[in-house]
Amino acid sequence: MSDTMTDEEFDAAFAKAEELSLLFREIGPKYDIDNTFAYPTIEKFKESGLTGFCVPKEYGGMGGTILQTSKIISELSKGDSAITLAYNMHFIMCGMTMGLFSEAQNKHWLGRVADGEIMFGPFSEKRAGFSGLADMTAVPQPEGGWRLYGTKTWGTLSEASTIVTTNATITDADGVVPEGYEARVEAECFFVADFIVDEEGVGEGVKIEKTWDALGMHATGTHVVVFDGFYIPEDGWVCQWRGGAFGVLEWASLMFASIYLGMQYRVLEEARAVLSKKTLGATFGAIAAAETKVSGVGHIIDGIGDMAMRNELSRRVLYQTCQELIDGKDDEWPVELRFPYIGLAKTFVAENVMYMTRKSMSLIGGMSFRKGTIFERLYRDSAASMFQPLNSDQSTTYIGEYLLAPEELND
Ligand SMILES: Cc1cc2nc3c(=O)[nH]c(=O)nc-3n(C[C@H](O)[C@H](O)[C@H](O)COP(=O)(O)OP(=O)(O)OC[C@H]3O[C@@H](n4cnc5c(N)ncnc54)[C@H](O)[C@@H]3O)c2cc1C
Repeated sequence: MSDTMTDEEFDAAFAKAEELSLLFREIGPKYDIDNTFAYPTIEKFKESGLTGFCVPKEYGGMGGTILQTSKIISELSKGDSAITLAYNMHFIMCGMTMGLFSEAQNKHWLGRVADGEIMFGPFSEKRAGFSGLADMTAVPQPEGGWRLYGTKTWGTLSEASTIVTTNATITDADGVVPEGYEARVEAECFFVADFIVDEEGVGEGVKIEKTWDALGMHATGTHVVVFDGFYIPEDGWVCQWRGGAFGVLEWASLMFASIYLGMQYRVLEEARAVLSKKTLGATFGAIAAAETKVSGVGHIIDGIGDMAMRNELSRRVLYQTCQELIDGKDDEWPVELRFPYIGLAKTFVAENVMYMTRKSMSLIGGMSFRKGTIFERLYRDSAASMFQPLNSDQSTTYIGEYLLAPEELND
C-alpha cells in the first residue's frame, strides 16, 4: 500500500472506533442473552466510516495498515468481543482480497466497501473445516460463470453483508469434481459476488439458515449458508484458493489475535474494578483477620500482575508481528514457516486470553460464575479463540514438521 494514513487521520478513525466500542459495550449483554446478531450495530458501523478502514486510499478507503487495523479491532473488542468478531470478518476479507483481487475487482468491490458496504467470508464446511478442500462445487454454465452448490457451516456476518466471498471446487459441466488430489487443489477457487437476501435470509440460489447456537460468541450470527445454484458471473472469479489465500492469511490470523487482545484488555479492566474494591470482612482461613481487603492479598496482587504481564506481552507480540510484516521482515523467515510464524501471534494471544478469563474468575470468586456476570461471558467467548486459524496444534505441527525434515537433511 503506497499511500498510508497520517497520524491525524488515524486518531480521527480511532475516535470513531471508541464511540462504536461504547455502543457495543452497552448493548452486548442483551444480544448475548437474546442469542442473535446485534442488528442495531449495522447502520452504526456503516455510519462510522470504518467499513473502508483498511481499503487503500486509491480505491476510496482510509488506507489503514495491518497494525492500524489491529488497533481499531482491539478497541472495538474491548467494548464487546462477540459483536466485534462479526465485523472482524469484514476487515479480514478486505485485507485478504486487496492482495488477491485484480485491479478492476479492487476498484469495483473495494470501492463499494469504502462507500459503506459490508462483506463476509464463509469458507469452512462441515467435513472440510477450514483447511480441508472444499466440497462446495462451482459448476460452469453455458452462458459463462458458475453456479455454486454446497453448504458453508460458519457464515459469520451473513445477515449484515451485501458482498460474499467464498471458495468452491470447479467441476466439469456435469458437476463432477476432478479426480486426484493435485487436480482438486488446482480446481478449488476463490469467488466474489453480490449477496442479496430478503428479511428471511433467502435469495436467488442462496439461503441463510439461522441456526447459530454455541457456547459463546452469540452475537456473531455465525449461521449456516446454503448455496443451491447461486450464480457467480465470470468476473466474480478471483484466483485459485489455496495458493492465493494462504499467501495473505495474516489478515485472518492477526485480526483474530486483535479480537482476543481487546478481550484481554476487558478482562483486566473488569477484574481490577472488582478486586480493587472487594472486601471480605472478617475472615477465618488462609488469612485470619478482622478485616480483609482482597487488594492486599498476595495471590490476588500477583494474579493481577500476572494478567497485566500477559496482556502487555500479547500486545507486543501482536504489534511486532504486524510491524515485521509491514517492514518486509517476513522475507527473512523460511518460506515454509511464514504462515505458522504469523499464526504464533494469534495462538499466543489466544492461549493467554483463555488463561486470563479463567484466572480472573478464580481471583474474583464464585460470584463470577453466575450467569449474567461479565466474567462467565468472557470465559465462554474466549473459548472461540481455540478454533480460528491458525490453531495452536496446527502451528506446532507446521513448525515441527519443518524442523524434523529440513531440505538440507533430505539432500
Ligand atoms: C465464532 C466463530 C466464527 C467463525 N466464523 C467463520 C467464518 O465466518 N467463516 C469461516 O470460514 N469459518 C469461520 N469459523 C470456523 C473456524 O475458523 C474453523 O474453520 C472451524 O472451527 C472448523 O475448523 P477446525 O479446524 O476447528 O475443525 P476441523 O477442521 O474439523 O478440525 C478437526 C481437528 O483436525 C485438525 N486439523 C484440521 N485440518 C488439519 C490439517 N490440515 N492438518 C492437521 N490438523 C488438522 C484440527 O486442528 C482439529 O484438531 C468460525 C469459528 C468460530 C468459533
